[in-house]
Amino acid sequence: MEPRIKLHDKSFKLFLPYSEIETAIDQVAERINKDFHGCEDVPIILCVLNGSILFTAELMKRLDFNAQFLSVRLSSYQGTRSTGEVQQLLGLTEDIRGRRIIIIEDIVDTGTTMENLHGMLLEKGAAEIRICTMLLKPEVYRKALPLDYVAMEIPNRFIVGFGLDYDELGRNYKDIYVLDS
Ligand code: 5GP
Ligand code: MG
Repeated sequence: MEPRIKLHDKSFKLFLPYSEIETAIDQVAERINKDFHGCEDVPIILCVLNGSILFTAELMKRLDFNAQFLSVRLSSYQGTRSTGEVQQLLGLTEDIRGRRIIIIEDIVDTGTTMENLHGMLLEKGAAEIRICTMLLKPEVYRKALPLDYVAMEIPNRFIVGFGLDYDELGRNYKDIYVLDS
């Protein structure tokens, strides 16, 4: 485990070691399993690429009901800031009418991305949408949309690692790092 990493021009220090991330994922998976245990439909696990790739993989291994995996690719961040505009870089390839969906997101900041995706899924006829996020910045989140499963809450700082990037670098680290300011 590196105590510090450098990505492009910025330095980041260790914030959440993998052991803590793992425990939080165990707990959130348990809650989801409880809610979906014995379900008769096949819910969709919707991975929001690219950031939630590692979280989705770790979470999925722990789910014990039959689910279908789908992904979409969205982008709203440039550098270390949200642009407030959500770009859909890769859309849904499947008919989701009447399906229950669990969105798997890496981090909810302002909530613009989730609100946007939630609206898009409703428009496409999803029967029910739940949101599962690995991280939430409660100080920044101001939307009415309920976040059903939050694995960890963090202060309003810019973080990288475990799927999260700074201009495409940092996704591969298994621990989470915070911008050193
Ligand atoms: P929102 O739309 O909620 O403001 O932003 C959500 C998206 O912005 C996340 O899916 C993530 O891609 C990106 N994001 C928000 N906060 C951070 C952060 O601290 N670090 C990184 N690397 N990305 C973030
Ligand atoms: Mg994301």
